[in-house]
Amino acid sequence: MNHYDLIVLGAGPAGVSAALMAAAKGLRVALFDENEAAGGQVYRAPILSDQKMDGSEVRTGENLRDALSRSNVRSFLGHVVWAVTGDYRVDALGPEGSVSCTTHMLLVATGTTERVVPFEGWTLPGVIGLAAATILLKSQRTLPGKTTLVAGCGPLLAAVAGGTLKAGGVVKAIVDISSRSEWLKNASALLSRPAIFKQSLNYSLPVLRARTPIYSRHTLVKVTAQGEQLLAEFAPCDASARPVTGRHIEILVDCVVVGHGLTPSSDVTRLLHAKHHYSRAAGGWIAQTDENGQTTRERLFVAGDSAGIRGAAAATEQGKRVGLACAALLRGDDSPASEAQTINKAWQQAAAFGQKMAAMMALREGHVTAIPPDTVVCRCEDVTRAEIEQAGEAGAHDVNQLKAWTRCGMGPCQGRTCGDIAAEILATKLGVTRETVGIFSPRTPLRPLTISDMTGEYDYADIPIPKAAPL
Ligand SMILES: Cc1cc2nc3c(=O)[nH]c(=O)nc-3n(C[C@H](O)[C@H](O)[C@H](O)COP(=O)(O)OP(=O)(O)OC[C@H]3O[C@@H](n4cnc5c(N)ncnc54)[C@H](O)[C@@H]3O)c2cc1C
Repeated sequence: MNHYDLIVLGAGPAGVSAALMAAAKGLRVALFDENEAAGGQVYRAPILSDQKMDGSEVRTGENLRDALSRSNVRSFLGHVVWAVTGDYRVDALGPEGSVSCTTHMLLVATGTTERVVPFEGWTLPGVIGLAAATILLKSQRTLPGKTTLVAGCGPLLAAVAGGTLKAGGVVKAIVDISSRSEWLKNASALLSRPAIFKQSLNYSLPVLRARTPIYSRHTLVKVTAQGEQLLAEFAPCDASARPVTGRHIEILVDCVVVGHGLTPSSDVTRLLHAKHHYSRAAGGWIAQTDENGQTTRERLFVAGDSAGIRGAAAATEQGKRVGLACAALLRGDDSPASEAQTINKAWQQAAAFGQKMAAMMALREGHVTAIPPDTVVCRCEDVTRAEIEQAGEAGAHDVNQLKAWTRCGMGPCQGRTCGDIAAEILATKLGVTRETVGIFSPRTPLRPLTISDMTGEYDYADIPIPKAAPL
């Protein structure tokens, strides 16, 4: 089994920056990611290398991958991490089977999970997530549909609408929960971030050119199948995303792309029992850390969106900062204080902007109370909002009791899709805080895998048979 000074989980901007920094300071570093190429969600590489793509995100991704290939970092790409133990042993499954490594320090940079607040028809084929659509567009150069409705909140709306139009698709409308003034208030911060401003223009200009109708302060209420197509119905809403009286509009499309923000992927830090707290503004449950990104558990660090949604630019700087801190911890601090200060400054500036964008994607109360009672919330186990509330009435005080009583969160997604919404429904029903109802306990395997994936090839005859127990 290989031992490293530092193992980094996640090869997005946070993980790669941390790995490169720590390796440059002399640490033996291993980097794991389930994707075949580094870049994470935002700097995702196209699946086929001959696919021609342009844009600043593509160039940043290529630079990141180049730097990684020139470094001493041992990359385990295409490896799904399915277990992490308390003594920092990492088990992953790759194309050639299982890999196990141990480490002195562990950095969790596993990013985020997309949130979709359920509505009638959200489980129909053809209804997909905003973040999922970015994967189709970036990685596979595939349009989500010939005609698309883009709905939800936050900056991914423009990214998907702009990306779809640039790739030759038709966006029939954008349905945005935020008001224009909300955008103006938050997006004015763009002026202090020229690179992101340029990138957002890159997304917005095709939308303006195509004169795509934008319905601000509207929310999707229902999608129904109409032959091969989908009829999407949306309505005006208030600031908490609750539909209000007003004209309902219907549009027929091939595909509805909808997303309501992102939640930090904190399953590994929770599995290792670091202390966490709930922050609505940061997207959900995040680990408590010191200024170096070290959690309440010694030698366990967190960086990037898994430490709270702040976006790619902040993830990059935070990754560098944590990489530097890990090197200082292991090798003694021989880097000039100015290096940490420069990174800290860049991180704070990027995080301040990211915080504004995250605020627009934060879960809104009225949105959840508007979920119809018979709408499925846990799509793996078919658990409705009414069933969650009934469990609350019957005495389920926290989400883990809810899980045991209803099977909510017990399916293959392990609660990643429904956990945030189920907890919000239960907390509202019981009139308590999100801290009180808690979060689903993470369990290994962290990702679904088969027993044979875990055990590998073996001869049945080689299995040691224990002696019979004495009577
Ligand atoms: C699907 C999706 C698409 C997004 N698209 C965009 C976009 O187009 N533009 C934008 O500005 N922001 C996008 N975001 C937000 C974006 O993730 C961040 O702002 C930014 O990428 C954060 O960087 P990070 O390094 O913290 O995490 P990420 O970039 O998310 O990187 C984390 C990496 O960890 C890997 N990982 C997680 N768990 C495991 C595991 N158990 N085993 C192995 N690998 C694991 C993930 O596959 C991922 O590659 C998207 C988010 C999601 C969920």
